Amino acid sequence: MTQLSKRFGQIHALCPSNLEIAEGEFVVIVGPSGCGKSTLLRLIAGLEEPTGGQVFIDGRDVTDVAPAERDLAMVFQSYALYPHLSVEENIAFPLKVQRLGKVVVGARVAAVAEALALTTLLKRRPAALSGGQRQRVSIARAIVREPRVLLLDEPLSNLDAELRVRMRHEFARLHGRLGATMIYVTHDQLEAMTLANRIVVMSEGRIEQVGAPLELYAAPATLAVARAIGSPG
Ligand code: ATP
Ligand code: MG
Repeated sequence: MTQLSKRFGQIHALCPSNLEIAEGEFVVIVGPSGCGKSTLLRLIAGLEEPTGGQVFIDGRDVTDVAPAERDLAMVFQSYALYPHLSVEENIAFPLKVQRLGKVVVGARVAAVAEALALTTLLKRRPAALSGGQRQRVSIARAIVREPRVLLLDEPLSNLDAELRVRMRHEFARLHGRLGATMIYVTHDQLEAMTLANRIVVMSEGRIEQVGAPLELYAAPATLAVARAIGSPG
């Protein structure tokens, strides 16, 4: 993305920013509440129209391309499940637009449900699930299509400690298996340090610093970076 920016009235949610993410990279975005993390993801996904700048995927300018045609999937902070569909139908939904046989769809949904411990919940509606279960359904729905780019906005924030650890391993495994590019927003320093190839630290609508986890930890450029990474310096 080049000179990408977003304003909401007087609020500079994202100041003109440049960031290049390599194919297959696992990038984690950290920073305090309101610094623009979700805005950045939504701009990349095409869910928000930029005030300025461009988004490129695979060298193609997708700034004016519809979200569904960007070959990416997004997990939202708010899950955004279809309330009238069962868990199974929610997960299968993204596959409906592809021309896949029933058997293939069934197998894919079953595999993803298994990985996210949702097998016994497949017939339920979202309203009958806990927050953590809903979150897992929204993750399942995002990965079932095996997109090239996966955008995750605090995907583990509502899970208990045990599930968080399990899901962290699952994301690492998934990244290895799919070779997908992952852009992952979190407040959790352990998630950032263990999952990231590179960490992007944001502060007040700006990208403060970008680097490998240990690089940022050892040499934070600003106090905001030190705070976000939890480094002693
Ligand atoms: P959090 O960690 O709390 O999720 P964030 O880093 O994701 O925060 P954003 O949601 O990107 O922050 O918001 C960045 C700024 O833009 C905030 O000041 C927010 O109030 C503002 N903002 C976001 N969406 C809108 C909108 N639709 N209309 C007006 N202001 C908005
Ligand atoms: Mg957010």
